[in-house]
Amino acid sequence: MIAAEVQDLRAYYTTTTSTVQRTVHAVDDVSLQIREGEVYGIAGESGCGKTTLLKVLLGMVSPPLKVVSGSVRYRVADGSIDVLKLSEQELRSIRWSVVSYIPQGSMHVLNPVRKIRDTFADFIAAHRPDWVARRDEHVREYLAELGLPDSVLGAYPHQLSGGMRQRVTIALATILAPSLVLADEPTTALDVVVQRGVIQLLQDIRQRTNSTLVLVTHDMGVHANLADRVLVLYAGQVMEEAETTELFESPLHPYTQYLIRSLPKFADRAERVSIPGHPPALDNPPTGCRFHPRCPYVMDICRSVVPPLIETRSDHRVACHLVNPPNG
Ligand code: SF4
Repeated sequence: MIAAEVQDLRAYYTTTTSTVQRTVHAVDDVSLQIREGEVYGIAGESGCGKTTLLKVLLGMVSPPLKVVSGSVRYRVADGSIDVLKLSEQELRSIRWSVVSYIPQGSMHVLNPVRKIRDTFADFIAAHRPDWVARRDEHVREYLAELGLPDSVLGAYPHQLSGGMRQRVTIALATILAPSLVLADEPTTALDVVVQRGVIQLLQDIRQRTNSTLVLVTHDMGVHANLADRVLVLYAGQVMEEAETTELFESPLHPYTQYLIRSLPKFADRAERVSIPGHPPALDNPPTGCRFHPRCPYVMDICRSVVPPLIETRSDHRVACHLVNPPNG
């Protein structure tokens, strides 16, 4: 069953100064399907369009970001809804209860001058007024289910460690049991031991609620641990998508191969291979395959023809002329 579907999505940032209009092609012709109950990973370097894609999935589209074409649909009990056609009020009514968002950096969510208890109280008053009478019980029960001490409720955000703040943010984003949870770099800036705890928490929540988790991170190690399938984005376009084991064991796209080879391996002292060059500026992306200026296998055709995204193996899509030769 499909939980959410993106079709032919183009989302651009347009800025105008007195003389120049600049359009950044942040998400350019992306199609994907997210299956119910899975952890769907979205990978790629900074600036590849991951966060923009997540914002559009959430319906958070405001200038200078604009959806130029395409659709984003969620499955709901009585059919499906086109998120990009909903009014602000309709979006508010599904946010947190149907779809929720774990942002990069917990301090964006937690009010620094309010105790955690008050932040939960404000949130529940805004989104579940029917819970207000038993609010403290609901919050305590939920924190206990997630293994978090209720002593956090009496603390201000700055009194908690970074890892605990992130756990509290995740609890806040999931307390209304949304069916779709979108997480943007939830483990960034945490040390590896704390990361492990946050990953475990996300796994527990998904299993407990059977929710679908969309996980955006540049960290391929986190995808390897948590994702069922992974989509690799580069310069606003899909390069590859496969089940996680298949992607890590048999990456087909040269960019994915670089991402995986750059991961540290236990007891391996060999120097890690980094990707040569830099991601392109998206106001003037390269013609043909967007990875061609950095690709060691580049051919003439790569410079002029955009490689189509083709299902090369079962459940494994890749956009590369080397893998899918035009006359192959
Ligand atoms: Fe490299 Fe060409 Fe494949 Fe792009 S299409 S990844 S440039 S071989």
